[in-house]
Amino acid sequence: MCGSKFRYLFGGFLTSIIFLSWALFPRTASHFVKAYPLLIVSFDGFRWDYLKRTATPNFDDIIKTGVHAYKGLTNVFTTSTLTNHWSIVTGLYAESHGIVENDMYDPELNKTYVPLYKDKYAKNDPRFYDTGVEPIWVTNQLQNTHGRSGSIMWWGAENVIKSTRPTHHMPWDLKTDYKFRIDTMIKWFTSEYPINLGLLYFNEPDHTAHACGPASENVTKLIGYADELTGYLINRLKEKNLFGYINVIITSDHGFAPTSKNQLIHLDDIVDPSLYRVVHYSPVLSLIPLGGQETYVYKKLKEASRTHNFTVYYKNEIPQRLHYRNNRRVTPIVAIADLTYSFISKMSDDEFKLAGTHGYDNKEQDMHPFFMATGPSFKSGFQVETFKSVDLYPLMCHLLDLHPAPNNGSMDIVSLLLKEEHETTFITLVTYLVSLVIIATFGGVFAVGACRNRRYLKRTARPINVSEILGGNNGAHIGLLSGDEEDEF
Ligand SMILES: [Zn+2]
Repeated sequence: MCGSKFRYLFGGFLTSIIFLSWALFPRTASHFVKAYPLLIVSFDGFRWDYLKRTATPNFDDIIKTGVHAYKGLTNVFTTSTLTNHWSIVTGLYAESHGIVENDMYDPELNKTYVPLYKDKYAKNDPRFYDTGVEPIWVTNQLQNTHGRSGSIMWWGAENVIKSTRPTHHMPWDLKTDYKFRIDTMIKWFTSEYPINLGLLYFNEPDHTAHACGPASENVTKLIGYADELTGYLINRLKEKNLFGYINVIITSDHGFAPTSKNQLIHLDDIVDPSLYRVVHYSPVLSLIPLGGQETYVYKKLKEASRTHNFTVYYKNEIPQRLHYRNNRRVTPIVAIADLTYSFISKMSDDEFKLAGTHGYDNKEQDMHPFFMATGPSFKSGFQVETFKSVDLYPLMCHLLDLHPAPNNGSMDIVSLLLKEEHETTFITLVTYLVSLVIIATFGGVFAVGACRNRRYLKRTARPINVSEILGGNNGAHIGLLSGDEEDEF
């Protein structure tokens, strides 16, 4: 009897396991995301097409083994450094995150923002940044109890946001050796309490393109140097067995355009400079009219725009596609120079450089940065044409298995870069089935063991029948036991 009883029991046990697996599997599979550590690297001002300029064997390797946006990314307006580095880590347009330019005036704080590259002793006022936004390191550290982040000079990371700072932060200093920056990042990824998110910033080739122009030989050399640094980074990752285990994104904040002394817009000749205050000069002119002269200043600029290469807007006229006008830090009048043109004024503190700049309309492809990535979550040798830089935040959240804060990005295109969801689901399914077989085997062994033990106890507990011993007539009982023998699994 024992065998058939346990057969029923084991059958029930298996049925329950299969039912539970069926009931739980879809939820488990959809939730399953393997969160590998993530490193995001920014080479400031690395235009989308710079790779064609010189030999870049290390970038080529990444493209071959990973993913690439071959026409670069559509970044956000204004195409400036602080605005775009903040958009990459928050997934928000300028009007939503509030870093509308490298220079800003906040009427509520009644304060002008001075960027560190203009004054390295400038004290950042975190109120410019802590506006309810959530950069990726804050999402990482607030949601994941083991989430630790390290920033090497990432713009904005010096601020306390939602009472949180990156676990490690190397402050902005142009002179810090590039290889030392990489070595520090590797140290953070391999320390006793390793980071799972790293942000690594290099201020070139931007710096040289401003001084020498984007088409200069010096910039070509720096493209080669950025490639060499990437090779050094990959070798250091390989040395520590991190390459192939860590997802690496390499991108930039904006592209570059050349400027020329024949393409200057002399602001002082258009309207009397005593009638306005300028917050930022060029190529986006942010202007606050003084003494009730708003209509007059606008009219003069509008007239000039018909014969000069720029467009002027009242704040509420700024095209919606720029996602710019809905922020108190955007000035009442904004003018945008055409690509390669520059505003110039005797009143400007900035020395005008006849070389190169950025900041223009983000519809200009010359303003677009490059993008490539490699790692366990990315496809191999896969390319897309382009996507938006605000999509990087939801992508990073997905890679780190975090719920993104509200943002302007989308997973529509970036999800194509990832290994197919069904591959992940298939791996999960295989893991699941293997676990099921192991559980069933253990269950079976247990059931057989229990059955045998029960039989043994039954046999040893049976009262001695003297007549059976003497007469040898034990057929009935033995017969039953013999029958049980066939029930073995
Ligand atoms: Zn920049």
